[in-house]
Amino acid sequence: NSNNSNNSNNSTTNQLLFKQAKAHIPGGVNSPVRAFAGVGGTPVFISRARGSKMYDTEGKPYIDYVGSWGPMILGHAHPHIIEAVKNAADDGLSFGAPTTFETTVADKICELIPSVELIRMTSSGTEATMSAIRLARGYTGRDKIVKFEGCYHGHSDSLLVKAGSGMLDIGEPSSKGVPADFAKHTITIRYNDPQAIKDCFAQFGNDIACVIVEPIAGNMNMIVPTQEFHDTLRAECTAHGAVLIFDEVMTGFRVGLQSAQAHFGITPDLTTFGKIIGAGLPVGAFGGKREIMECIAPLGGVYQAGTLSGNPLAMRAGIAMFDLLTAEGFYDALSEKVVYLTDNLEQLAKDAGIGFKTTRCGGMFGMFFTDGAFDNQLPQNFEEVCQCDAQKFAIFFHGMLDRGVYLAPSAFEAAFISSEHSQEDLDATLQAAKEVFSEMAK
Ligand code: PLP
Repeated sequence: NSNNSNNSNNSTTNQLLFKQAKAHIPGGVNSPVRAFAGVGGTPVFISRARGSKMYDTEGKPYIDYVGSWGPMILGHAHPHIIEAVKNAADDGLSFGAPTTFETTVADKICELIPSVELIRMTSSGTEATMSAIRLARGYTGRDKIVKFEGCYHGHSDSLLVKAGSGMLDIGEPSSKGVPADFAKHTITIRYNDPQAIKDCFAQFGNDIACVIVEPIAGNMNMIVPTQEFHDTLRAECTAHGAVLIFDEVMTGFRVGLQSAQAHFGITPDLTTFGKIIGAGLPVGAFGGKREIMECIAPLGGVYQAGTLSGNPLAMRAGIAMFDLLTAEGFYDALSEKVVYLTDNLEQLAKDAGIGFKTTRCGGMFGMFFTDGAFDNQLPQNFEEVCQCDAQKFAIFFHGMLDRGVYLAPSAFEAAFISSEHSQEDLDATLQAAKEVFSEMAK
């Protein structure tokens, strides 16, 4: 039974643990989307994870398609990563002084991503995007920034305007506590709409410090934009001297070894990273053109710093991660799994008479419960994503969770696969989906 009030995830154990968590943690969680507000019911408390699976406190296994929101591309607790972290821990947790591990990670990223000539580490994706924006403003001497509706770039003030992800479940287009004086410098336009970019630059062109974009959107479900969108963005930024920032915190080393910028053949001025480059430890990074990056302290006047930036555990985990990502055929194998899964999900939904579409690129994918409006096309922007059926997604989510498949608890998130997902995992997922679709069709 997939009824929200009658599923196994509402086990008394999880309910009790959630109640205890709420005693001293706001809403019982340390990041809003974990509270299941978008799908109802009680969050599952996880005690451990290995490979493709997570286990709750009662030992129930779940095939995991969240992957800690992206970093776990090698599956959970990969022996090579764990060994690197254990060795790093033995050598001390943090020094607040340079290490050769930071140099190795920087060299690796610059080698794989040609647009990145210099790179600075941070402790989260939020810090990376916040710092990249400050840098773009410092470099250009301009205040205005442009972002796209439904794109999420972390929770710094300037970027919490019409943002995606957990912000959408809360139902507020921008957060309380962001001064109007800050928000007024953020221009938000429609994603995947070349004309909107042209209009924006025609109006504000020489005041725009930067445009920040998720090159493939993964925080309003998943949208792969058109080539024309990216070509227009690059051309307009160049023509007006604005810095183009690709936020690849999610897509970096997720959609391919050269990331989303190679997928579209675009050279951004700055790129932000996070998630995968730390293999599950807290990390972020921003890098790009030498001339721009040389504006940050200690070389230039744009201040940016961090007690734990370039943390040795995160760096050594990242180095171990790159060892395996650069193996021949890694991304082909990953993307074959995603193709198999999404093709079959669509077929099963079709067999059950349910409007359902998927998007995908490399190791990430999106799932939409569509109605007649999207029978022949995919949602192209935030407004269209909102026209999809979030209620149906919630029913699907709980049906899958009951059957041991852990999806993101929100209709506005992308899904992630790992190299450890086996054929058996994929087939078990499809069997579960077949059962849930058939119940939903009744
Ligand atoms: N940018 C994008 C595209 C993201 O998906 C996220 C987080 O999901 C962030 C930035 C913020 O990263 P963090 O949660 O590490 O602060």
